[in-house]
Amino acid sequence: MKTALISGISGQDGAYLADLLLKQGYSVYGTSRDAQMSSFSNLSRLGIRDKIKLESMILTDFRSVLQTLTKIQPDEVYNLAGQSSVGLSFEQPVETLESMAIGTLNLLEAIRFTGAKIKLYNASSSECFGDTKGLPADENTPFRPRSPYAVAKATAFWEVANYREAYGLFACSGILFNHESPLRPERFVTQKIVKAAIDIAAGKQDKLYLGDISIQRDWGWALEYVEAMYLMLQQQEPDDYVIATGETYALESFIEIAFSCVGLDWKTCVKSDSNLLRPTDIAVGRGNPSKAEEKLGWKAQYKMPDVVRMMIEARHS
Ligand code: NAP
Repeated sequence: MKTALISGISGQDGAYLADLLLKQGYSVYGTSRDAQMSSFSNLSRLGIRDKIKLESMILTDFRSVLQTLTKIQPDEVYNLAGQSSVGLSFEQPVETLESMAIGTLNLLEAIRFTGAKIKLYNASSSECFGDTKGLPADENTPFRPRSPYAVAKATAFWEVANYREAYGLFACSGILFNHESPLRPERFVTQKIVKAAIDIAAGKQDKLYLGDISIQRDWGWALEYVEAMYLMLQQQEPDDYVIATGETYALESFIEIAFSCVGLDWKTCVKSDSNLLRPTDIAVGRGNPSKAEEKLGWKAQYKMPDVVRMMIEARHS
């Protein structure tokens, strides 16, 4: 039986990945900054809370990382922890950078130090690309990060690439475009829209206030994206992969579909709020996932309109 360790298991991806690995027959450990205090509500929601062994680990504390790896002796580590909100990263740039850059470096160093044959997956992000002027980004597209979050993710990406090349570590980065699910927290715009559409339809809320709705993104289904993470660590050679649906839509279209699902015209419900604009943003996010399809056999089945409907349905059920 293989053992996997997931940092940030309390989050959206951590919960779905844990579920997938359990189904694959893994012994699954998960870490949180404080496992005694965290409710792990996402794990409970998926009905797997009792099947996971939970530990506390602070990625910015090398001793904590080393101690955890030595105790658990995982075959695979999935590094999903860190301050994951682009918007919040403008307000907490140091915390964001440290949690990603120092956190990932500590994991890489601990693996190198112990000499254990641990495979590492690192959660990178399409935000690293910045504005590609509408061109689809692939694994060779240069990074031009436009937020503290993206700077942190780009730093961690190069740490992984460097340790792979310099020390032969089996370490991969998944450069994932946005992926959503019912487990997405409400501070993310997709869940904020879905919740508001349902609450306005039910008369519990009057208006929805949003920043720039002209931005375009590639939104996928989180349950499919964690499969790509798993597949990366099952390959013969470590490598980096762009994971996306390959289809880009305006946020306005996301809003339109969400409100029409509940029988409302979004134009009467959505107001713009300049306080919600980011200091810098990305106009168009577009990804080319053909390497993942060719090498991993991975292809997204669900596109943005499916994602919206499934998020709405989950809130109704
Ligand atoms: P998430 O729901 O926010 O979960 C991330 C976890 O990291 C949290 O549950 C939290 O666990 C931990 N965390 C939060 N703030 C932290 C901090 N300051 N320092 C250390 N740990 C912290 O994120 P997700 O959506 O599952 O995404 C997983 C990873 O993929 C993240 O690294 C994210 O940046 C990246 N990613 C996500 C997307 C996406 O669209 N979802 C796209 C590209 C990349 P505890 O509170 O239990 O410690």
